[in-house]
Amino acid sequence: MPTAIYPGTFDPITFGHIDIAERASNIFPNVVAVVADNPNKNCIFSIEERMEMAKESLFHVKNCKVVKDRGLVIDCIKKFNASVIIRGLRALSDFDYEFQMAFTNRKLNSRADTVFLMPEAKYTYLSSTMIRQIAQLNGEVTKFVPPVVQKKLKQKYGFTQ
Ligand code: ADP
Repeated sequence: MPTAIYPGTFDPITFGHIDIAERASNIFPNVVAVVADNPNKNCIFSIEERMEMAKESLFHVKNCKVVKDRGLVIDCIKKFNASVIIRGLRALSDFDYEFQMAFTNRKLNSRADTVFLMPEAKYTYLSSTMIRQIAQLNGEVTKFVPPVVQKKLKQKYGFTQ
């Protein structure tokens, strides 16, 4: 069975992302979560912060490691001798973009197959964008992100005592 890479921005990592990583790790012997170090993404969290949150949140997934990368996903495939790209599919709204990206990656590297996994139903509406919006207004995010992320969000938006 091949190694699978799980690329994303993880700004910040949520229970939805974690659910997908757990599912992938039950299927593939090794999963590499690749945190995108892409300055064009306008992330609220730095690459170091996103890495720290992802590492702590995925610590329990023993065959999943977390790395950062600023290159193309298909180059990561080579780097980790992987042949599968994991992506999460939430709703139909994800489909167009994911479909386009999967075919583009396959054109760039014919070895690269994308495997889509669906999270538990209660996470299908969850996105990092929504979490950021709730946290910015000092809303409750305990149902959506682990404690390490809750703490970082409070610090980021200045809601710490
Ligand atoms: P990107 O900018 O690469 O889309 P994201 O961090 O937003 O990075 O997402 C990374 C992957 O995780 C994507 O495949 C996305 O569809 C998936 N994902 C994000 N949120 C969820 C969720 N709530 N449930 C399942 N998959 C999710």
